[in-house]
Amino acid sequence: MESFSQLLAESTRIHGHICAGQVIGVRMAMAALERIGITDPKGADRKKLYVLVEIDRCATDAIQSVTGCSLGKRSLRWLDFGVMAATFVNLDSGRAVRAVAREEARALSENYYPEVVDKYQRQLEAYTIMPLDELFVFQEVRVEIPACDLPGRPLRRVQCSLCGDWVQDCRERERGGAILCRACDGERYYREVAAPNRIPPSSIAP
Ligand SMILES: [Zn+2]
Ligand SMILES: [Zn+2]
Repeated sequence: MESFSQLLAESTRIHGHICAGQVIGVRMAMAALERIGITDPKGADRKKLYVLVEIDRCATDAIQSVTGCSLGKRSLRWLDFGVMAATFVNLDSGRAVRAVAREEARALSENYYPEVVDKYQRQLEAYTIMPLDELFVFQEVRVEIPACDLPGRPLRRVQCSLCGDWVQDCRERERGGAILCRACDGERYYREVAAPNRIPPSSIAP
């Protein structure tokens, strides 16, 4: 794997700015990968690695950058828990580590670079050198990943009987024998202001 400074530079470029979250994310991902036996996440090990992130904040971009895992590759899953934590899974061995960023790290950062006046700058710089156990709690875990959540071709594609949208990856719902997309099953997050310009399912020849 590349060095910490190379990985931090790369994640800063992708994220768009340097911040404490980049430092936390890079250090978390590097340490977790080592613990699950992944040494070449973007090369030889790329199909073995799966990451579940628990927050959509700066560090998540760094985790994506270091691991090479992404939503589009289905090797990164976002769980909206609002916790600065991520679980790194070696799909080959089943080894998995959940890393949580410690809240105490903010206060502990005052022991490093006391001459830096700005709190956020001090945290950023301190996080680059603080020992891992001051920054994170690592926990060995087991994760059952459903077949429908794994990378690879979709296991199924079905059409919503109400709106006609096609639903992949087992995300459809069944109500009274009818197949529905999640939006038609009550989870629609938008309001229509114009009719969609699509062909209704009933007019498609069987
Ligand atoms: Zn940031
Ligand atoms: Zn629908």
